[in-house]
Amino acid sequence: MTATQIAANGDLGEFRSEFQSWLEATRGDLEPFRVVPRDAAAQVDQARALQRMLFDSGWGRQGWPEHAGGFGGSPLRRGVVVEELTKFGCPPPFAASLVEVLGPAVLEFGSAELVAEYYPRLLDGTDVWCQGFSEPEAGSDLGALRTRAVDDGDEWRITGQKIWTSYAGSAERCLLLARTGAVDEGFKGISAFFIDMGSAGIEVRPLKAMTGDDEFAELFLDDVRVPKNRIIGPIGAGATVTMNVLANERSVLAWQRQAWLHTRLADVVGEMDPVGELGDHTIGHAYAAVHALRLKVRETFRTVAAGGVPGPLTSIDKILLSTAEKAVFDAAMELNPELLLLGDSASAKRWQYDHTYARASSIYGGTAEIQRNILAERILGMPREK
Ligand SMILES: Cc1cc2nc3c(=O)[nH]c(=O)nc-3n(C[C@H](O)[C@H](O)[C@H](O)COP(=O)(O)OP(=O)(O)OC[C@H]3O[C@@H](n4cnc5c(N)ncnc54)[C@H](O)[C@@H]3O)c2cc1C
Repeated sequence: MTATQIAANGDLGEFRSEFQSWLEATRGDLEPFRVVPRDAAAQVDQARALQRMLFDSGWGRQGWPEHAGGFGGSPLRRGVVVEELTKFGCPPPFAASLVEVLGPAVLEFGSAELVAEYYPRLLDGTDVWCQGFSEPEAGSDLGALRTRAVDDGDEWRITGQKIWTSYAGSAERCLLLARTGAVDEGFKGISAFFIDMGSAGIEVRPLKAMTGDDEFAELFLDDVRVPKNRIIGPIGAGATVTMNVLANERSVLAWQRQAWLHTRLADVVGEMDPVGELGDHTIGHAYAAVHALRLKVRETFRTVAAGGVPGPLTSIDKILLSTAEKAVFDAAMELNPELLLLGDSASAKRWQYDHTYARASSIYGGTAEIQRNILAERILGMPREK
């Protein structure tokens, strides 16, 4: 049976086992995806190739609506695909996760024409999208952003600066936030735009991360002309679009990460020889953290798949994600500090990279402090900060 033949509302277990069979049958072709390259451009190339392969075989179209180039069916199928791929040893590169983070927001708020034209290109790896939200003076507080979009008849003209834009150097499109209203309107004066990275007036300057990689870039926008129909949602709906994106980053992305963390925790057990009390305690703590993450994100994913909005509760997922990610790689560090601090084998370098990158999980998608503020104010009803 192929991905196209599986009934749109068929059983998820059957879907999983069909996909597992495809993975086995395609083992040789999947070999290049076993190791995610360090170089950002190479990661994007790998993400495109994987998207293309999944799209052509039909598995990457499962769980996405037909008007967007998909085959329909429950969005949970996307979760099964990513989890089984990861268990098979081919975790999708981080660059690929932007499909899940940005895609659903454009699907929900973008015009039908825009979705029909650009979504299939996203799903098949032709286009990579980046996220132009953060600015030098506006990260946690996106309501303070200064990039401005001015209405100029048939077009918008956008001028400003973005920072920490992952994979901007390789992306074809950007979901970008810009101010269309007055500064004192805060987030109410912000709108979302879908812009072409090849537009005149956009300069991309790479930034080195603490891992030594060039995943990030700064974007400088100088009077960039954007067609009127490239606004995502109504004017001033930037906050709503942003909440959708952040909820995905804190939930569906967390599902991808938990699948990968399970495999890396198994690597800790396999490679670090965790015998004795220290091993038991460290591994037990990390396992509990990863499993708690899995259970919570599973619930969130099911809410999203049923058309619900998980809202501020996704802050719990995000806290569990950063807790679990740090627990797994701190376990590796505790059990084999020599390897992580001094090793220079390929395996040591991978552990060092993952241990460093784990620090990012309490920053991207909203910092751990911001998640705790959201929980305190919006779930527990504690007084808002002044
Ligand atoms: C790996 C990675 C990938 C990223 N990719 C992208 C991307 O593709 N696109 C994009 O737009 N951005 C991206 N970012 C940026 C990320 O969204 C921001 O770094 C994040 O929102 C925090 O903003 P900031 O860096 O400006 O820190 P700030 O907002 O300046 O925060 C600095 C510190 O102050 C704390 N703080 C701030 N406000 C409060 C408050 N009200 N209460 C308590 N503590 C507070 C924060 O928790 C933090 O510890 C990425 C970041 C990382 C690490």
